[in-house]
Amino acid sequence: RQKAEDRVYGDMRNLRRERPNVLIGLAGCMVKPGKEEKIVKKMKNLDMAFRPEDMGDLGEKIQALRPKWNLSVDEGSLGKYFEIHPKVSSKFQVFVPIQTGCNKFCTYCIVPYARGREKYRDFDEVVDECKLLVSSGAKEITLLGQTVDSYENFPQLLEEIDKIEGLNRLRFSSPHPSDFSQELIETLARLKTTCPYIHLPVQSGSNACLRRMNRPYTREKYLDIIRRIRKAIPECAISTDIIVGFCGETEEEFQESYSLFEEIGFDMVYISRYSTRKGTYADRKLKDDIPYALKAERWHKLNDLLKKTAKKANEKYVGREVEVLVEREGMGRSREYKEVHFTGGEVGEIVHVKVTGAKEWLLEGEIVSPS
Ligand code: SF4
Repeated sequence: RQKAEDRVYGDMRNLRRERPNVLIGLAGCMVKPGKEEKIVKKMKNLDMAFRPEDMGDLGEKIQALRPKWNLSVDEGSLGKYFEIHPKVSSKFQVFVPIQTGCNKFCTYCIVPYARGREKYRDFDEVVDECKLLVSSGAKEITLLGQTVDSYENFPQLLEEIDKIEGLNRLRFSSPHPSDFSQELIETLARLKTTCPYIHLPVQSGSNACLRRMNRPYTREKYLDIIRRIRKAIPECAISTDIIVGFCGETEEEFQESYSLFEEIGFDMVYISRYSTRKGTYADRKLKDDIPYALKAERWHKLNDLLKKTAKKANEKYVGREVEVLVEREGMGRSREYKEVHFTGGEVGEIVHVKVTGAKEWLLEGEIVSPS
């Protein structure tokens, strides 16, 4: 979305102001093929831009811009993005990409054009990397992909990673409703490391709007997936992404998103106001015809409802004990991805916290014992 892009420009300005000597590189879907140099020239706070598939040249690029830096990049691992073994700064919480690109072509999204079609990492290579990460201290692994559940044999991949001795939590982001199979649900319910938290983007509760967005599922199918998840994993926390004010969104269509919220009672939702992203199908063929004030009004309506459902979902934890991975002193996340606040705790440690209070966006409690 355009708003997200504008935020990147602002962040770069701030970064440059706060740390004038830092080397700023831009990667991802803002960098179009062949336009790397142009974008660097155009943006005065930017030092370099590269496409995900050119990640392999990153070492050389940095070295050319900062010849005095002594970069220790593994010889031979530069050629392929997926073969780079990251030197992670947070050892206990790591992210492992398993797929890039996308074949879905949602009409508002630039990813399939900017990142190309889906590419998958080799199954054994992913498992080996996870083993390596766990042996060097990882307690939580998050598998990453644009539509992560479109990975062939995804349930089997989870199963293999689950066997790794010492791993405590296995997460993934983001799945697509069309690929969310019953086999995957049953696997998530059965494995010991997979967490009772699923982020499943819906984008709209209206079938007509979903069709304009080129999201190939219906409201009914989405509700059915949530029903099956809750049947298999009764305590599962559920979050989603939703867009308000997409091209042509009528009041009735918005009401269908609203009623979907009421029906599901999400734990968390990332609500965005639609803004046109240049180069997408929606930019070329659809009209961004919902006034900003109406988008804002719809956003507030959903956000007010979310505050209620999120608080209600959090209140059920009061009096219970939750397992928390400490991310910084006094704060961590439960297996259900709830932000938990308490006193003390060592970063990277897993503790048990007795929940004493619940707010919309977080739980409060006291450490009962390290696990
Ligand atoms: Fe973009 Fe996700 Fe749709 Fe792919 S599935 S086109 S990444 S929104």
